[in-house]
Amino acid sequence: MGAGQKIKAPRGTEDILPEAWLRRRRIEIEAEALFSRAGYGRIGTPVFEDTDLFARGVGEDTDIVQKEMFTFEDLGGRSVTLRPEGTAAICRAYVEHGMHKLPQPVRLWYQGDFFRYEAPQAGRYRQFTQLGLEAIGSDLPEADAEAISLLDELVRTLGVPGVRLAIGSIGSADSRAAYRRELQEHLRKHEQELAHEVRERIATNPLRAFDSKDESTRAVMEAAPKLVDRLDDADAEHFEAVKGHLDALGIDYEVDPTLVRGLDYYTRTVFAIKCDRLGAQSEIGGGGRFDGLIAELGGPQVPAIGWAMGIERVLLALESESDGREASAQGADVFVAVADPDERKRALVFVHEVRRKGLSCEMDLAGRGLKGQFKQADRVGATYTVILEPDGGAQLKEMSSGEQAELDTGAILDRLVSEAGGEL
Ligand code: AMP
Repeated sequence: MGAGQKIKAPRGTEDILPEAWLRRRRIEIEAEALFSRAGYGRIGTPVFEDTDLFARGVGEDTDIVQKEMFTFEDLGGRSVTLRPEGTAAICRAYVEHGMHKLPQPVRLWYQGDFFRYEAPQAGRYRQFTQLGLEAIGSDLPEADAEAISLLDELVRTLGVPGVRLAIGSIGSADSRAAYRRELQEHLRKHEQELAHEVRERIATNPLRAFDSKDESTRAVMEAAPKLVDRLDDADAEHFEAVKGHLDALGIDYEVDPTLVRGLDYYTRTVFAIKCDRLGAQSEIGGGGRFDGLIAELGGPQVPAIGWAMGIERVLLALESESDGREASAQGADVFVAVADPDERKRALVFVHEVRRKGLSCEMDLAGRGLKGQFKQADRVGATYTVILEPDGGAQLKEMSSGEQAELDTGAILDRLVSEAGGEL
């Protein structure tokens, strides 16, 4: 790109400006409070990992691994990948730090940036933020119910409108293998009626056919055998127990026998929360049980359950309801104005002192005249404006009443601090 030409943020990414950060922070604060009451501690893992982690963890045949990963060779010749999801890395960390020796289940939550090379559209980006949790080390249906209830509770606490929770069970690896063959047979029988990409995946990922938006494929899938009807006794019993617990918790859900997720590691319970205010990308969050993943990554046979929620989709859903009034990232308790530019150094020192007392304070840095500075004080919503005068004197102006008093700066500082005690 030539010098002087504008450079834009990469396709599928966005800048997060100060007001948007406030909205994101609120979500994080609510989530952290909810999770910590349930005994979840925060975990962070690297933004990039060995490519092999995702190939093995997420699954070679998934869309994510086949065509959506940001994979590159680092300068040392290693193949690394920007993380497309959180669970594989958390399981890696669980094994790497010997967390199976801790009291089980180990409850972990996370928030961070994830990367998928997808075709960008509303609600689908190449860099996005997921907030999620994993409870590792319990196969009890109560653990499923706890995880699902935390997602449900979070979405409700945040006030996301029009949400629906769907749950299903995809059984264990064994019952799924038998079912897979049965489904492949059904798909082959109707091959001519299937969309091209579905036909291509009969051998590798037949379950994804349930996700197809193609009308004729959907008709074939309506008549397809359903995995929920093919669960073995233990899996079916587990699913019944999860549903019973959700009923006891008063959580609304529908059973979706065609619920499949884009990751290979799921076993038994799967779930998703959708928001009917969003368009094609309506899923706010989802997850499931992954009883085989830790062993797959070289750890012990440890069952686990978790989910992830997309922050951008939550924000889009909330925006659909918003009254347009935004919290402002800017604002100051006190604005310091100078009657003469020569007083700027004094202002700088005074602003510093006010901030050290714990108050928010600003001064003009745009060379405005006194009138312009008052306007700026209004704009930032200052409760008080301090005017520093050339003779060393100062005035304190209360903005709401317009009342003004001549005081020395020490007395002004004392007054501001005592007013702040009563909430400025
Ligand atoms: P997944 O990791 O695919 O199960 O996705 C979990 C959640 O992450 C989804 O429900 C979405 O809310 C969000 N998500 C997944 N992919 C994207 C993307 N490309 N852009 C924005 N959000 C996403």
